[in-house]
Amino acid sequence: DVAAGAETLEACVEVLQSVFGYEAFRGPQAQIVSHVSEGGDALVLMPTGGGKSLCYQVPAIVRAQGGHGVAVVVSPLIALMHDQVGALTEAGVSAAYLNSSLSLEEAQRIEQQLRRGDLTLLYVAPERLLTARCQAMLESLHAQGRLSLFAIDEAHCVSQWGHDFRPEYRELAVLPERFAGVPRIALTATADALTRADIVERLQLQDARTFISSFDRPNIRYQLVEKKDATAQLQRFIRDEHSNAQGHDAGVVYCQSRRRVEEVAAMLQQAGFKALPYHAGLDAAVRQQHQDRFLREEGLIMVATIAFGMGIDKPDVRFVAHLDMPKNIEGYYQETGRAGRDGEPANAWMAYGLQDVVNQRRMIDDSPAPDEFKQVLRGKLDALLALAEASDCRRVRLLAYFGETYQGPHAGFAAGPPQGETHPPRAGSDPRSGAAWGVMCGNCDNCLNPPELFDATEPARKLLSCIYRVQQASGHGYGAGHIMDILRGKATEKVEANGHQRLSTFGIGADWSETQWRALLRQLIAIEAVRVDDAPYNTLHLADGARAILKGEGEVRLRIQAERAPSRSRSARA
Ligand code: ADP
Ligand code: ZN
Repeated sequence: DVAAGAETLEACVEVLQSVFGYEAFRGPQAQIVSHVSEGGDALVLMPTGGGKSLCYQVPAIVRAQGGHGVAVVVSPLIALMHDQVGALTEAGVSAAYLNSSLSLEEAQRIEQQLRRGDLTLLYVAPERLLTARCQAMLESLHAQGRLSLFAIDEAHCVSQWGHDFRPEYRELAVLPERFAGVPRIALTATADALTRADIVERLQLQDARTFISSFDRPNIRYQLVEKKDATAQLQRFIRDEHSNAQGHDAGVVYCQSRRRVEEVAAMLQQAGFKALPYHAGLDAAVRQQHQDRFLREEGLIMVATIAFGMGIDKPDVRFVAHLDMPKNIEGYYQETGRAGRDGEPANAWMAYGLQDVVNQRRMIDDSPAPDEFKQVLRGKLDALLALAEASDCRRVRLLAYFGETYQGPHAGFAAGPPQGETHPPRAGSDPRSGAAWGVMCGNCDNCLNPPELFDATEPARKLLSCIYRVQQASGHGYGAGHIMDILRGKATEKVEANGHQRLSTFGIGADWSETQWRALLRQLIAIEAVRVDDAPYNTLHLADGARAILKGEGEVRLRIQAERAPSRSRSARA
């Protein structure tokens, strides 16, 4: 009903302006609040800072005005409940929370308000909501038609694939059965396809409307470079792109380990940069002091483990650099997302190499998690590796991972670097492959400097054959270094001790450098033609994807190394 819809939206805008003092809804907020105010179910995916709270606060108020009673907000974060209730109360909205921080008397007073119908919003921790006492109270309200809405914040907590799994969230599946007819809205800022499917299934939101905001950060330029001498590359990057006569920009450099953080911070200081270390092993007072300086002073570089960043709101971070590869794309997106919150141009720079992949794989293999879980973690790591190895638009791939089809640079992006070409998506093309869409962002390394590709199928066959022959001859696999030695015809002690100089694949790859072979190997791991096993130790094995290549059915394309083009130019393609 169009007329009723317009009326609902009008009521929502009135609440937005009179209660919250904001002029207009942002992005999809208008659609969401209308839909939910009219009693629809919704799943909302919005990046941090997108404005999720209003998506349920406005409908809660509108529905209360319509005589539907109280809205129940499920939230796992006590601090957040406290802040929101404080802000709502200040704005004249009757709101309260029930969680473990309250005394018995305080809780009883709020329950009384609830029964009397004095509350518009009630925030509840999930474990509290599921107590018999709370359920009985809500059932009685429901029977009187005074339960207006359930909002489930941080909905990814329901998924064990998410980084924040909370078993209590699973129990929220009872809501639609026990409280039939009460609309539900679930909200999250982190959800890849797997997590999202889990939310829908676990919370029974099959019939809910899904609202996905763009996760694009157009001002962030993504650059993923091959790791050679990481610290030298980092210094060059900061000098070239983030330094001027006055000094350098503020940035964050992420490293995997505490020791590495210390080393890199010291190295940067020695090189004349203003840099500080930050990791969980530092004294709390030192950590606090470093964090304060980073927020207060200009042009400080924080070298940190991922312990740094949560809840740190510094708008003018001009670059986030990764010296080691994160675990997955969600982590990468979150960490790089700390750059450029002010909307000004910022860089997300990462140096990655084969060793990163091997290390991450080993951490997964060595973890005590069940096999099914490890498989998921490996899949997520592979997706990041594929992003790193991609030769097409990074942004298209990054957003595709979150289920978003990138449509080209935003209209308001004119001040940025040269715009990429935009073509409408072709029907039936693969949404996971940016190349198929033909859309480019114009603000990532691959868009700005399209890599030249050449057909590396023949070398790939050589590498795969070599892995196969060695395995066949020895009964077990070998590591990358040894395989490269055989391919390149280097009769090392280890090669001779194992008689590998007699293999038919010995020396068939002498025309390539080890760097080139390693680049190819990473690509083969990314497309699952090669698997790295930790038994006995980081050994290479053929995986499912190898078959097609060996049979001549699959093609492998590789980027031409900037400083050393492959010698087989006859197979090069422009
Ligand atoms: P999220 O929960 O998605 O991280 P919040 O709900 O905390 O985001 O909102 C982020 C900020 O944006 C808050 O300061 C909020 O007041 C503000 N905000 C949200 N929606 C609007 C709007 N329509 N107009 C102006 N400010 C808004
Ligand atoms: Zn791009």
